[in-house]
Amino acid sequence: MEIKRGIAVSPGVAIGPALVVDTEGYRIPERFIQPRQRTAEVKRLRAALAAAAKEALEKQEAINQKLGKKYGAIFAAHAMLIEDPELIREVEALIQDQRHTAEYAISRVIRRHAKALESLMSAQFSTRSSDLFDIEKAILRQLLGSQGEELKHLKEPVIVLAHDLTPSETAALDPKLVYAFATEAGGRASHTAIMAGVLEIPAVVGLGRFLTDLSGGDEIIVDGNRGVLIINPDEETRAHYEETRQTIGTFFRELGELRDKPAETKDGVRVLLMGNIEFPQEVQHCLERGADGIGLYRTEFLYLNTTAHPDESDHVEAYMTVLRSLGSKPVVIRTLDLGADKFSNRTDQQDERNPSLGLRSVRLCLRNLALFKTQLRAILRASAYGDVRIMFPMISTLYELRQCKMLLAEVKEDLEELNVPFNRKLPVGTMIEVPSAAVMARELAREVDFFSIGTNDLIQYTLAADRTNETVAGLYNAGDPAVLRLIATIVDAARPGSGNGPKHNVEVSVCGEMSGDPIYTLLLLGLGLRQLSVAPQNIPEIKKIVRTVTMDEAKEVAAAVLKLDTARDVNNYLRERTRRILPELVN
Ligand code: PEP
Ligand code: MG
Repeated sequence: MEIKRGIAVSPGVAIGPALVVDTEGYRIPERFIQPRQRTAEVKRLRAALAAAAKEALEKQEAINQKLGKKYGAIFAAHAMLIEDPELIREVEALIQDQRHTAEYAISRVIRRHAKALESLMSAQFSTRSSDLFDIEKAILRQLLGSQGEELKHLKEPVIVLAHDLTPSETAALDPKLVYAFATEAGGRASHTAIMAGVLEIPAVVGLGRFLTDLSGGDEIIVDGNRGVLIINPDEETRAHYEETRQTIGTFFRELGELRDKPAETKDGVRVLLMGNIEFPQEVQHCLERGADGIGLYRTEFLYLNTTAHPDESDHVEAYMTVLRSLGSKPVVIRTLDLGADKFSNRTDQQDERNPSLGLRSVRLCLRNLALFKTQLRAILRASAYGDVRIMFPMISTLYELRQCKMLLAEVKEDLEELNVPFNRKLPVGTMIEVPSAAVMARELAREVDFFSIGTNDLIQYTLAADRTNETVAGLYNAGDPAVLRLIATIVDAARPGSGNGPKHNVEVSVCGEMSGDPIYTLLLLGLGLRQLSVAPQNIPEIKKIVRTVTMDEAKEVAAAVLKLDTARDVNNYLRERTRRILPELVN
């Protein structure tokens, strides 16, 4: 038995036989043609390119239907790249001048470009390089016939294992036959991870090398909750996971029945349980699970697969789609949080040595006023049609927040002059995800309607541990006392009437991954939180916990935890307390 740890990107536990998708299988040996074959070879190349482009457009159509236009757009971009004149010129030159085969020429050119992109060491560009590999495969398939087509013709359920899955491979996975997938490469923000969440297939990525340690048909366990892959489990582990899978299965079916019940503690305290979304279509996933609204809409995902900045109408269209699904329920639209591990089209920017500490998120928006104002206008315009709230990410100083509010006021004035309707009382909030903002929470509270604590970044910046770097994952811990004390400070600072704090009530929610992890629910309630915003998949289990506990219990847990001085003690204690209430939710 072998156990590998990676990044959990889509929850659920699956057991099944391995299907190893050999992405290296297409590595083409260097071969040459006769001088007289050159014209025919170029012709063969062109036919393959035309067929591959046509196939990409067909895929676009199919994915539009299956998942929505946003995803289909990936393949429209593929079709454009396949027919890119510069790319074709380079490949044809290799055939004409070097007498390489069409297969070798295309493979060499694409891999050279992909390598160049990867060497830029940016999450956004390495994601794009996987698109290039996808294109390479599509063209080679045309040139070589149908090799490596297993994924499309599955007859038995499998667990797909690959070095990396391209966006089109992931989008084409059939959730009925693909029980789970695991990849050596990939990060949280990769297209592949996003698709896994949307398709709701359990998945773990970023596992490092493991494909050499197994063969097709080996028994595999993928634990998409904890980011674990087990190869050839022993009897005991297998039995344990089999049981977990079954109890989790029954348990989650039962949780479905909570959909229309409120997230209310046993002693009658109502908690607002909201969903986090990246795409408008996900509103449906949240509502199906009984969310009270959308607590975080990560609008930077509008930039996925685009080379141009989305314009005002793109923004408005996305927001209106959200509002149409939501009815009267609220949505917190967060302004663009681009940069660092998030996609960005920063060809106009200098490379930064420390992107997480650099010109990202609201800092980037404040330097690109046209881009920022376009989004502010769109949010304001949408606010006339539903319960829209606006939130600024990555605020580090009071001055930054004031700048954002000033711009918002300017845009409001412009709209007013043009008689464009909008909500004049649009609630304004800020994320608290930088330690300086947590320390200054009292001052910030005076100037906003609500706070949302972004624990993903708050943990990263408090402990100086990169959230995407698996080698410091031990330090990056939501249970760290330093993080918990900051959360307590923030909640306290938002209460009205205390010293130089706010005069009005500032609502506080937590929207990082921590709020979707059941072991922290009791603690967060005990610390005074009455709003949690979590990934759609986590809504039922968090609702279940809320409905199972009393506030006295939660306060007792919070008081006990605040006395502990290491993350390890905190997590052990919380795991134990949660296990006592709902053993199904804790390993
Ligand atoms: C966070 O930082 O906790 C957060 C919710 O935002 P994101 O994960 O998009 O950075
Ligand atoms: Mg964040």
